[in-house]
Amino acid sequence: MSPFPVILSAPSGAGKTTIAREILSRRSDAGYSVSCTTRTPRPGEENGRDYYFLSRAEFLKQREDGAFAESAVVHGNLYGTLRTEIQRVLSNGLHVVMDIDVQGAHQLIRVFPQAVTVFVLPPTGEVLLERLKGRNTESSEQLVARLQSALQELQAVDEYEYVVVNDDLELAVNRVNAIIDAEVLSRDRVAGLRSQVTLLIDRLEREIESHQP
Ligand code: ADP
Ligand code: 5GP
Repeated sequence: MSPFPVILSAPSGAGKTTIAREILSRRSDAGYSVSCTTRTPRPGEENGRDYYFLSRAEFLKQREDGAFAESAVVHGNLYGTLRTEIQRVLSNGLHVVMDIDVQGAHQLIRVFPQAVTVFVLPPTGEVLLERLKGRNTESSEQLVARLQSALQELQAVDEYEYVVVNDDLELAVNRVNAIIDAEVLSRDRVAGLRSQVTLLIDRLEREIESHQP
């Protein structure tokens, strides 16, 4: 089975980053694609672990050089996934967990049609607001920008294969894990399926023949 990208999208504050971290800490068969962004780091965020924090000029240069598999303007900042990041994780035999917005997801599934898409929903609007405000990482202006983007992001839910409601974190992580586990077993991803079935058929046919009078 070849590893595949797992794209998590959600309105800001729904918990996709938290879920992605948990998935990575629990699965030895998954790695994270560290994105590039022009936004400023939040307290505790590390360059190269959470994001590659680039200046606008650096970002635009990389984009001009074709370094990104996808890129988008999200909440007024530039975000993008480096082709080398995805390849680094896939070539280690790991599924690539990606936390990207809906515009990026659109672009990425064109490049990686084998990607699995998961939309994370908060249980209620009230809970989303509580989480977003409780994270305490945005000014009031930034908060409104994120809520406006959230309205657009929510329109895209129909384009995703799976939906996970992030009510209880443990349950939500289990749901995403179940999706990955099921996808690993999906017929199209099973390597050598045809030859495996042909071998079975051959063996059974020989057995039937041996019983012919
Ligand atoms: P996103 O990446 O979707 O913007 P985050 O992962 O940053 O969202 O989560 C937003 C806030 O909600 C964070 O403070 C996080 O700790 C909290 N959070 C995430 N999932 C849950 C959950 N299931 N229950 C309670 N709080 C949560
Ligand atoms: P945050 O600033 O809260 O970390 O992320 C803001 C938004 O940008 C989230 O919706 C997140 O999914 C999205 N994002 C993060 N990395 C990327 C990326 O590489 N590409 C795209 N298109 N969106 C990203």
